[in-house]
Amino acid sequence: MTVYSPPSDLLAERCVLVTGAGDGIGRAAALAYARHGANVVLLGRTRAKLEAVFDHIAKETKTRPTIVPADLQHLGEDSASALREGIERDYGRLDGILHNASLLGPRNPVEHYPATDWHAVMQVNVNAAFLLTRALLPLLNQSQDASVILTSSGVGRRGRAYWGAYAVAKFATEGLMEVLADECAHAGRVRVNSLNPGGTRTAMRAAAYPTEDPATLPIAESHMPLYLYLMGPDSKGVTGQRFDAKAWQVVTRACPSA
Ligand code: NDP
Repeated sequence: MTVYSPPSDLLAERCVLVTGAGDGIGRAAALAYARHGANVVLLGRTRAKLEAVFDHIAKETKTRPTIVPADLQHLGEDSASALREGIERDYGRLDGILHNASLLGPRNPVEHYPATDWHAVMQVNVNAAFLLTRALLPLLNQSQDASVILTSSGVGRRGRAYWGAYAVAKFATEGLMEVLADECAHAGRVRVNSLNPGGTRTAMRAAAYPTEDPATLPIAESHMPLYLYLMGPDSKGVTGQRFDAKAWQVVTRACPSA
């Protein structure tokens, strides 16, 4: 078990984009990043959920969040470029991306998997991460210390029956992580890693396992030490690696032996 206790100013002055920031793990990460000093760009599908996260951050911290209501289903080169221009205009920098938004899609055998759902899952879970990363790399490359986190899954490391496009997309996510990490390694400014949160009490998990008791699962907040470690300067030099939230635990600086 790895223990990490982030300082409260871990991400001070930094600007971080979180996709799927309105709910579940993305919401928890956006709040954690803001609580540790980051100006967070909150991208998600449902405006009302983003506004609620925005209000929470504005009430609790002195950071400057922004909301970007956007359906990644429709993200193209132009909208990715527009996002870069907006971040450049509003913050003048970008120090990290948490690619977190994903679609579960149907749980069917490949033989019966609808092609439209296949394309939708690949678009949201893989193509959007590629398009956003490509558009935002010029900004990340200007940062002295930037981090890209791609969200994986157990089925992105070992395929399982009936997980269809979701599993295949997570394998592609791992591939994107390795290719990008290798490309960025030489300059040493942008580190790229993948993170598997593992079974977590969220709407997606409930949809995937409807008969499971959610009370048996960890809440998203319990994974935040790893999300903070990978986004902040303590992970400088760590790149091209696959992380699992299960191996991490919460410890506060005030009580390091707790
Ligand atoms: P949730 O479904 O709870 O939240 C996903 C978020 O992504 C929501 O805010 C959702 O927006 C947003 N989103 C979905 N589709 C789009 C889209 N087309 N455009 C923009 N935003 C979108 O998922 P989790 O928090 O459970 O999952 C977060 C990540 O962790 C995912 O990548 C998932 O694959 C991964 N993961 C989760 C596990 C778990 O047990 N929960 C296990 C392993 C991996 P809205 O709320 O508006 O619909």
